[in-house]
Amino acid sequence: MTAAPHGDSALTARWRGALMDNYGTPRLPLTHGEGARLWDAAGNEYLDFVGGIAVNALGTAHPAVVRAVSDQIGTLGHVSNLFLAEPTVALAERLLELAGRPGDGRVYFANSGAEAVEAAFKIGRRTGRSHMVAALGGFHGRTMGALALTGQPAKQDPFLPLPGEVTHIPYGDAEALRAAVTEETALVVLEPLQGENGVVVPPAGYLAAAREITAATGALLVLDEVQTGIGRTGHWFACQAEGVEPDVITLAKGLGGGLPLGATLAFGEAATLLTPGQHGSTFGGNPVACAAGLAVLETIEADGLLDHVKRVGARLRDGVLGIGHPSVTEVRGAGLLLGIVLSQPFAPQAQQAAQDAGFLVNAVAPDVVRLAPPLLLSAAEADALVSALPAVLDAAAGAARDR
Ligand code: PMP
Repeated sequence: MTAAPHGDSALTARWRGALMDNYGTPRLPLTHGEGARLWDAAGNEYLDFVGGIAVNALGTAHPAVVRAVSDQIGTLGHVSNLFLAEPTVALAERLLELAGRPGDGRVYFANSGAEAVEAAFKIGRRTGRSHMVAALGGFHGRTMGALALTGQPAKQDPFLPLPGEVTHIPYGDAEALRAAVTEETALVVLEPLQGENGVVVPPAGYLAAAREITAATGALLVLDEVQTGIGRTGHWFACQAEGVEPDVITLAKGLGGGLPLGATLAFGEAATLLTPGQHGSTFGGNPVACAAGLAVLETIEADGLLDHVKRVGARLRDGVLGIGHPSVTEVRGAGLLLGIVLSQPFAPQAQQAAQDAGFLVNAVAPDVVRLAPPLLLSAAEADALVSALPAVLDAAAGAARDR
């Protein structure tokens, strides 16, 4: 272990005077990491099952990302959208290839998931239709357009009125979708699997039904793969597990290897709807972020991480179910995006108990603990969490009782 470069346990006291309190949670000050391991300011080591909220596909400080970023920033950093740089074009080409549709698509680069969705929203508006359909419980980001699509009233209500004419329908119900989509519908936006809503998996065939319903009325099908894309479920894009080809795919999180990078992939006519001057971002397509993205994609491929994610994800899921703990009612998800569903709403206590035991996990809902570790998580690291889990869950249940 190397010395903590910025170790400062007083950070906890300082942040409230400096950072806006919009997250509210107590935050553990971290100093450095390597792969799936992280260290805090007091020198404690953790296994990372948060992954920067499903961002760190290659973990922390992966040499390929470090090299790509350092080479690029040392050669040509930011150029703006007035100029071109090789990594920006190369990453777009690679993403379209991985989507299986080179030649039929175009990419818009943004800096976050919400911005990737915002671009999809604007593409929708350019169809000439204004009605949109999204799912209850869905999460698409916090900018105003993305928030309008997000199906979580608690996050929307403080900011009404929101743009758009959005109908929210129950997730996973193809008939509700069919009833909501009309000839006036510009787009339907869905997550292949609802991440922020507690890792909710729709019935098999749901995405294919959405494809069929949107195609019939001329609405765009936007799949928000900000959380599920870039290998997270063991596929480049989760929709590929069902062989569904949407009109738009939004990406962010895992794409940038830890750098802020979002992308909106549009196919067919959807790729032509934004014309010069209609949308943009100063940082979009930043060569350093795109070089990091290329390193992520190259490493996933070179290291066979898609198959690895399927294997280690199944091992983790089976392991968690295999402990037979009475507090675990279900393990949902795909690949390395898993939700441990608890019998009682003590996920926050489980998150704390896991942290005390040296594992970082995330209480994504009151009764769901989300696991979204680096894609390179080893079998031994997965097993370590499984072994620790019975004591963690006992401690969490105890803490919830004493509350
Ligand atoms: N879409 C989905 C599916 C997400 O999970 C998230 C982030 N949790 C977003 C959009 C928004 O991404 P960001 O926080 O980068 O704006």
